Amino acid sequence: MIVLKQVTKSFRVGQAWSQVLAPIDLTIEQESFMSIMGPSGSGKSTLMNIIGCLDKPTTGEYLLDGQMIGTLSEKELAKIRNEKIGFVFQQFHLLPRLSAWKNVELPMVYAGIKKSERKERAYEALKKVGLGDRATYKPASLSGGQKQRVAIARALVNNPSIILADEPTGALDSKTSESIMELLRGLNEEGVTISIITHETEIAEKTDRTVFVKDGKIQEATAS
Ligand code: ATP
Ligand code: MG
Repeated sequence: MIVLKQVTKSFRVGQAWSQVLAPIDLTIEQESFMSIMGPSGSGKSTLMNIIGCLDKPTTGEYLLDGQMIGTLSEKELAKIRNEKIGFVFQQFHLLPRLSAWKNVELPMVYAGIKKSERKERAYEALKKVGLGDRATYKPASLSGGQKQRVAIARALVNNPSIILADEPTGALDSKTSESIMELLRGLNEEGVTISIITHETEIAEKTDRTVFVKDGKIQEATAS
């Protein structure tokens, strides 16, 4: 479970500090499927970076499965990211020179898993996202939706408890977006907690809960 208590984030800009997140209280339940919406520049990615342990709060407390994140070292944060969190981005962030297979193996390289096991697990993850027959393809030879499936396979391969997706369908047409959302929904039904940032109401509506970020503050969607 993710618990943010009075979390703020400020960045130093020149001589001054700019506060991007006002004190935020947010709880994300285990195995939930939620979305985060809000205007450009409102602080969504900043919030997600904190939830994903890519960045730390300036003040306030972040508890991930009961563990206080704010006091951990870079190395400890990296370990948590590798073990618990999978990331998916709008522009896929695949390495162009590597095959789908090798891209999916990468998080396991960082986790120190031996080669034979890596190969097998990466292939299983590709099969799971429907790309068993594209394992040897490089990103340039894959469609946008297929690239995002590879990125999701990569996010999955260390069995994370949480997947954080920043505009996962932002570069995809609506039909492809829908199939990516179905894939994410299926993973959620298998027990993965999923939080996605989106600008699209149709995407947010496919999740079970939507929170809005505006000027660094959170507003819960009212039940309709
Ligand atoms: P978008 O929908 O365009 O992706 P967002 O809601 O994800 O926007 P953030 O990327 O979280 O917005 O940025 C929120 C604000 O924080 C912006 O005004 C941005 O300029 C500022 N900001 C983000 N990162 C930094 C940084 N490292 N240093 C200074 N300011 C930053
Ligand atoms: Mg953003």
